[in-house]
Parts: sequence; structure tokens; C-alpha cells
Amino acid sequence: PSADLDPSRIREVEDVISAGFFPSSYWQLLNRVAEYYCTDLIAVIKAALPPGLLGRSQRRIRLRREWLPQGAETFCSPSAGQILQLLKSQKEGDYSAQYLQRQIRNANRGIRELVKRGWVESYLEPPKTTRPKLQKAVTLIVESFPIDLTQRQREVLEVLRHRGGELWLNELLQLCKASSAIVDVLASKGCVVIQQRERLRLLNEERPTSDAPKTLTQDQAKALATIRTLEGFAQVLLHGVTGSGKTEIYLQAIAPILESGKSALVLVPEIGLTPQLTDRFRARFGHKVCVYHSALSDGERYDTWRQMLAGEPQIVIGTRSAIFAPLPKLGLIVLDEEHDSSFKQTQLLPTYHARTVAKWRAELEECPLILGSATPSLESWVEVRSHKEERKNLPIPKTKSYYLSLPQRIQSRPLPPVEIVDMRRELQIGNRSIFSRSLQEALESLQQRQQQAILFINRRGHSTFVSCRSCGYVMECPHCDVSLSYHYTHEGATELLRCHYCNYSCLQPRNCPECGSPYLKFFGSGTQKVTQELTQQFPKLRWIRFDSDTTRTKGAHRTLLSQFARGEADVLVGTQMLTKGLDLDQVTLVGIVSADGLLHHCDYRASERAFQTLTQVAGRAGRGDEPGRVIVQTYAPEHPVIQAVRRHDYDNFVEAELSQREALNYPPYGRLVLIRLSGIDGVEVQNSAQSVADACTNLLNSDCEILGPAPANIMRVARRYRWHILLKFAAEARENLLILNELRNLCPQSVSLSIDVDPLSI
Ligand code: ADP
Ligand code: ZN
Ligand code: ZN
Repeated sequence: PSADLDPSRIREVEDVISAGFFPSSYWQLLNRVAEYYCTDLIAVIKAALPPGLLGRSQRRIRLRREWLPQGAETFCSPSAGQILQLLKSQKEGDYSAQYLQRQIRNANRGIRELVKRGWVESYLEPPKTTRPKLQKAVTLIVESFPIDLTQRQREVLEVLRHRGGELWLNELLQLCKASSAIVDVLASKGCVVIQQRERLRLLNEERPTSDAPKTLTQDQAKALATIRTLEGFAQVLLHGVTGSGKTEIYLQAIAPILESGKSALVLVPEIGLTPQLTDRFRARFGHKVCVYHSALSDGERYDTWRQMLAGEPQIVIGTRSAIFAPLPKLGLIVLDEEHDSSFKQTQLLPTYHARTVAKWRAELEECPLILGSATPSLESWVEVRSHKEERKNLPIPKTKSYYLSLPQRIQSRPLPPVEIVDMRRELQIGNRSIFSRSLQEALESLQQRQQQAILFINRRGHSTFVSCRSCGYVMECPHCDVSLSYHYTHEGATELLRCHYCNYSCLQPRNCPECGSPYLKFFGSGTQKVTQELTQQFPKLRWIRFDSDTTRTKGAHRTLLSQFARGEADVLVGTQMLTKGLDLDQVTLVGIVSADGLLHHCDYRASERAFQTLTQVAGRAGRGDEPGRVIVQTYAPEHPVIQAVRRHDYDNFVEAELSQREALNYPPYGRLVLIRLSGIDGVEVQNSAQSVADACTNLLNSDCEILGPAPANIMRVARRYRWHILLKFAAEARENLLILNELRNLCPQSVSLSIDVDPLSI
């Protein structure tokens, strides 16, 4: 910290509005994140704490009537006098400073004067979200009911007793369909007490039927036994094919942790996945499970945060940011689907990866970390690979890493056979539908067999671009270098073009804006196109669309998935969201409508990600009693990723991929840092990028390769031009990246610079 700050600009600490949570290990964790990811500590603190805690507190002004002399207004300045009048006119005598400032000139000076005279006091009111929510609770205090009660009064007491002797007033009234008067009478007769109590705003989902631990398979039992022997820090890669029972292992690994008075943290990739997983945890552990993720309201996050602080043994299930959950006694961390890219924060600072932070946290808290996946990330794989054959289930010296594998599905259910369909062939024989003959046939027989299907397409909307048949003009976003996607809403009533980068939208034009031709053609399919074709070709099949457009509202994930699970639809059509751990046992068919969108990316991770996505989607088939079947449609059937998916061949795919990464010194061997620059003025951004690159040459050792500056893949997004500089460090380089922070000084204010350490896409 530099000392050249102007002391007059440093603000006073006015009030402590909430007790903090910073035991030393947690504090060390935050500092480590700030340092590694080249960000200010405050950015890390903001990422870690619930947003409600950082909300703005309001200053309020309260009249102290007992101190106020007669005719006080006449003693003081005009603004102070006006304030007094306003305050006196109100029963409570309480106003926000902001309100007074709007109403009265020089209000601040008046307030200061009044405070000095002792006639008013000024206090800080914490943000709304951090104010406890108070509600009336009714507690039964007698064992036997007095005889003079009416039938109705008795009923109310019975309900209360039946529910454990205590209920929130509004819930009790609802249950008994009674008025509050009846409860007041019961209170006056000394049967119950009514008290204001804080009600924690926790995400209260209905509790699923309870579920006992399952008898483990041999593989599961072996893995669990190893996990139970762990003491202190250890990192476990649990590599289990889809449907092999990893979740059951997490559940049984956590049970003794809770019994020993400690808590467990379970991280999952996305909200879409949480309802099912949360249900399984709730069924086993009841109210000890709490959910923490960014889709909660600020109040819910704040209260969940405080509940975690309380230190009772509990299980927190959450997404990326839950890695900062303030559990004082942590006994185990689980990252499910550890390969998933949503564990990396990309838009906001710090650009941390929850897996990296989880490892540090486990080290600091001296507890085990379980990384579970059917398709482990290359990072986790290399850590255990050299030892995995000769030392299965044994600790690998020094690194404290374990490799545990579940190569079989539960009950020896087979992995579904994967059929690759060459879509070029389909065109040749004149099939212009987006469904191949195989897929059509499979969809055809679905209903009669009373089975369900999942159709995957990696785009939402209807078409990915619209172009003019007459002149070839492509509709583009005015703010970004991308084509607009075509969407329709309300059964085609409104037709829109939308930018998936900046969310710009406009009505679909009737004619080409360039040449006026009415002949517009739609290219590239999204989820809406798939459902449209389903309706046309299979009018009897009922479908549900599951993408970020249909799951925007709170609880939508859960609603759609449970509708599907109840069999209210035959086909679930969705994007990436489908890949994450859905366990639906009626699904026998998985169709990948087009695999090509995943294969052709210029990113070095494209193959890894495509393999993971396809394998995960494929893994949704055949998880119940009926065997499954997967159909992958592609124009590139010979692509190595497609072939590896067909053979369910993780090991060979990964070895081939790793040797390429090693040759080019890409992660997990070399280390990458991406410097992103952006601004409205393209030339200015380009010039700044050049000076930043030059500075890097001076700052960094020769074992760092500097690539660029180069324009980003999509150069302009939301009217900002974007340039990148990629730093590639040799595997053994251990450079302190904090010096990179100096680069920020090289850019004018209008150009923003961000440093992404270990970027997932470049
Ligand atoms: P994964 O997390 O590896 O995809 P799950 O834990 O979801 O696998 O297990 C797949 C299915 O098998 C689930 O429906 C689960 O309830 C069931 N299952 C898991 N372990 C057992 C077991 N030991 N005996 C019977 N069923 C099990
Ligand atoms: Zn045209
Ligand atoms: Zn745009």
C-alpha cells in the first residue's frame, strides 16, 4: 500500500454495520486470490461477500424531542429551522438525509448545526437487505389445554402441537384458516406466546421424501473407503463415467463430516443443475442443506451468509462464488463436474477459477478436496496421470493427490451406444430436414414406447443469421461485429433479431435493408428451430424448451425439469444447460442435432470442451432400466473428437490432446495470461495495446513469450473495440505477476485494461 494518498480524501469509519468474518485462514485465502489474479483485494472481497452487505447504507436524521427548547427555530439558521419544522411535523420525526437534501437548500449545513446543538441525531441505517426480517412467531407453552376453550381454539392448538409447538403466525393462520383474533385470545389465556422474531430469508424449497444411504457397489465402496481415511489436505480426482454414482459417494463422504461437527461445501457448475442435486442432498440431510448462488435475492444471500457464519455443521451447495462461503469449520470440499468452464469467472474481477481457489482453501483449512467428473479437465488429469496405473487408490507421494475411478455405471447399465450420422449423406439423398432419418425414426417410436428424449443444440433462438437471397446482405448488430440471431416470441406473433453479445434487438425487417428484396433466408439452427420442426414433423410429440430464454425467471429451471420428469412432455430441447448432471431415468434417446458448432472454434481448448460437452449430453441417455441410445449429427464424422465420443474413449482422447498441448506449451503445461484492452476509439485501443506489449517485453523475462497485440476474435462488441495480448510462460516460470499491474498506467482513461490469469478462452 502506498502512502502518497491525500489524507483529507480518506473517509472516516462511521459505523460497523455487521460483524465481520475474517479468521486468518480466510483472510489469507482472499489475499492469495488477489495476488494470483492480479486484482485489488477489494475486488476479491466484493466477490466473496454477499452483495447486500455492500449495499449503500442510508443516513437518517432523527429529532430528539426531549432536548428541543421552545421556539428552537428562532435560534438557528434558516436551513436548520426548516429541517426542524419538517421533522416536527412528522410523528416519528425521522427522515433520510437524502430526502432533506432534496427538500431544503443547504440541508447539510443545517443538519451539522442541529447535531452540534444536540437537537437531532444522525445515524446510519444499514442497507435494506442487511436489515433482519422480523415476523411474529407463535409458541405453545402449555402441555394440557384449559377446559374453557372453544372447539375452534382447540383445533388451532392441536395444529400447533402437531407442528412441533412453534410456527410463524401467518403460517399458523393459513393452516387453520383462522383469524389472528383467535390466536390473541389463546395468548391472553396463557396457552401460547406471540413474539417478534427474526425470520431468515433462506431458499425454502419443499422437502423431498427422505432417502436412506444406498448400499454401495464395490467400486463405490472402495472409493469411499479411501476418502474416509483422508486427514488434512488431500486432493482426490473421482473419475466416474456418467451415471456411475459419484453423487452417492459425496453424500456418504459428507455424513461423518457433519457428525464430527464440521461443515461441507459442494460446488456445482450452474443453477440449472442445482434443483435436482439439492433435492438429493435435502432428502438425505434435511434442513442442514443450504443453497447459495447468485440467483438468490440479496436478502436471501445475506441471510444464508449469516446462517453459514453461525457455525452449525451444515452443507452448502452453491455455484462458483460459494467457494467463499464463510463456513468456520470446513471438513470437506466437493467440486462436482470439475471440468466445467462456469467455475471460471470471466466477466467480473477477479477472474478466478473456483477449482484453483478450492485447492488453496482446502490447503488452508487442512481438509480434503474431491474433484468429480466423467470427463476430468486436463489440468486435474495431469496431476494424477503418471501415477494412476501403478498406484491406483494410493496416495501419490508429496502431491497428496489420489485417483479414484468408477469405470462402470450403476447396476452395470451399459453406456449408451453412440451412432454418428453424416449429414452430407442426408443431403445427398434429399433429406433437407434438420433431423436425419435415424433421428426421425427414433423420435417416431418414442411415444409408443413411453420413453423420453433429449435434443441438444448449442444455440438458443431460431436461426443464427439471416441473409438476403437477392444480394447476400447479412443482418448484423450495429454495435458488434456479429450477425443477429432470429427469435420469435408468442408463437411467432413477434419476430425479432437479437444480438447474443450485447442484447440489442430489433423487429425482423420484411425486406432487405440493402436492396429491398422480400426474399430473406434463415441459416443456422437454434432451439426454437428444433421445436418448430418437431411440431411440424411430429405433431403428437410434446416438447419443453430448456435454454437461457425459457429459464430466465426464478424457479423456472425447477419447474421445467419437474414437468419433464413427471412426463408432461416427450422431448426436452435445450442448450449447454442440459449437459450438467441431469438424472432423468425415462430418457432413452439423446439426439445431438448438430455437433459442428462445437468443433470449429479457433480456441486451443475447443476440442477438450467439445469432447466434454458431447460426452456429458450423451451420458443423459439410458440412466434408468431401459438402455439408451445416442445419435450425433455432424458434417465432420471423421473428426477425432467425434470418434472419441463414439468410443467413449476418454483416455486416448486426452493423451492425444495432451501431447499437442505439450508441444505448443499450452496449459496444463505452460501458463497463459491474457491482457484485454477495449475502448470506443479503435485507433486509441490499438495504440495502447502496442505500448502495453512493448512494456511487457521490458518487464518480463525471456522465458515469457509475448503474442500480439492482435484484435480479439470478435473485434467490436457493444461498440467497444477489443485487442488482446497473450503472455505464454514456460512451465517452470514462477514469475510474480503483480508487476503486470503497472501496465494499467499505460492506458488513457478511455481504454480499459483487464488481466485474465489462466484464461479459459483466448
Ligand atoms: P453420477 O453422479 O456419477 O452421474 P449418480 O450419483 O447420479 O451418478 O447415480 C446415478 C443413479 O444411480 C442415481 O439415480 C442414483 O440414485 C443411483 N445410484 C447411485 N449409487 C447407487 C447404488 N449404490 N445402488 C443403487 N443405485 C445407486
Ligand atoms: Zn438484399
Ligand atoms: Zn451486439
